[in-house]
Amino acid sequence: MNRSYSKDIQKAKVGSAVELAGWAAVIKVLGKIAFVKLRDREGEVQLVASNKKLINSLKDLTHESVIYAKGKVRQSKLKSGGNEVELQKFEVLSKADANLPIDMSGKIPTDLSKRLNWRVLDLRSSKKYAIFKLRSAMNYYIREYLQQNNFIEMQTPKIVGSGAEGGATLFSLDYYGKKAYLSQSQQLYKQMLLAAGLDKVYEIGPAFRAEKSHTMRHLAEFTQFDFEMAFLKDENNIMKIIEDMFVFVLKKLNAHNKYELETLGINLNVPKVPFPKVTYESALKLLAKEGIKIKKGDDIGTEDEKKLGDLIEKKYKTKAYFITKFPFGIKPFYIMKDGKTYSKAFDFEYNGEELASGGQREHNYEKLASQIKEKGLNVKDFEDYLNTFKFGTPAHGGFGLGIDRMVKNILNLDNIREAVLFPRDPERLSP
Ligand code: ATP
Ligand code: MG
Repeated sequence: MNRSYSKDIQKAKVGSAVELAGWAAVIKVLGKIAFVKLRDREGEVQLVASNKKLINSLKDLTHESVIYAKGKVRQSKLKSGGNEVELQKFEVLSKADANLPIDMSGKIPTDLSKRLNWRVLDLRSSKKYAIFKLRSAMNYYIREYLQQNNFIEMQTPKIVGSGAEGGATLFSLDYYGKKAYLSQSQQLYKQMLLAAGLDKVYEIGPAFRAEKSHTMRHLAEFTQFDFEMAFLKDENNIMKIIEDMFVFVLKKLNAHNKYELETLGINLNVPKVPFPKVTYESALKLLAKEGIKIKKGDDIGTEDEKKLGDLIEKKYKTKAYFITKFPFGIKPFYIMKDGKTYSKAFDFEYNGEELASGGQREHNYEKLASQIKEKGLNVKDFEDYLNTFKFGTPAHGGFGLGIDRMVKNILNLDNIREAVLFPRDPERLSP
């Protein structure tokens, strides 16, 4: 089969012969004429049958069956119709059960949970295809940027002996009779690789966290993009990379993915660099002016973070910004302190939501050991990691960015689950 995609039909010469394969999205058999809308990865196209034998063969066709069509390109009689295909040959390649478990016409809204139960059917739409094509493109552009800038892609273990991001969200498992965990982030390994002399590393891979709450932005399994570089001056070097890379990705999307963005009705504004930097303290002041009181040292909650996003957008006319100089008390043990109470940690925010956390790391062995203890953790659990700092580790920093959360916010999706093919949350382990 010399298969064309539905999109190609609009560019094809009128009168040319084409072959298509896809799913029967809409079927209308009207006596002397019949229409089938064929859906494939690249869109939809109308097939028209006007001879009796073909019309008859369409009578038993069920929605969502896989079909093969051969025909001639012609212009639709409808003004806005574009090109369609005059059917010459038609075959059912795989018949779908007539009782579809969810509405596929887009006319009746189905709740998310039911759609996710039938995710394979739910994904059969131009909008869903657009989300995952854009997600793939974003991953590609991130890699393109990093490779151009001489970063090395790594793959680190996902079965680990200790967590880096706090015990509360660790999934534990039995590892040949020993207790092991699913990795919460690549944090410890990427730092160790800088001690190994690799200088600039990154990974885009799975991370697991037993999040107890049900939110629109947390999953039990997500894709983390982790990045770390050595020989830096301070955390500002890292923020500069996030800015450049984020703008690079958005510009690439605008240049190469217009069709998918239009399918989702998205007009992507590329934020200006540098992104504003707001210290944690001044963020609290901004919120206090609006009557939102957060005690110094406490984290900024989801609702307040959204509000802060609105305030910053009003003030700086941008959705992208950093919150800097967080208190050490609400950041992980490996971050470098800045004075007694603050740290060289920042969050990258977009759309009023945290996309990434980063900062400069502590690379002094004694200080790091004492910070582990300060957080109430056991130094023994971090022995291999800690030992690397005894034998020469340059100043370094990096960030961890949630790919799913980035896709959600760039594409304006309501729920992180829409950005993931088969999401995992406290209620969901299948499909
Ligand atoms: P939050 O405060 O939003 O729970 P976090 O500060 O605990 O996130 P980090 O440890 O900073 O998360 O992880 C880095 C990034 O990974 C986050 O900024 C976010 O984009 C993403 N991330 C973290 N936890 C999850 C999760 N459970 N589901 C999806 N993405 C996550
Ligand atoms: Mg964070």
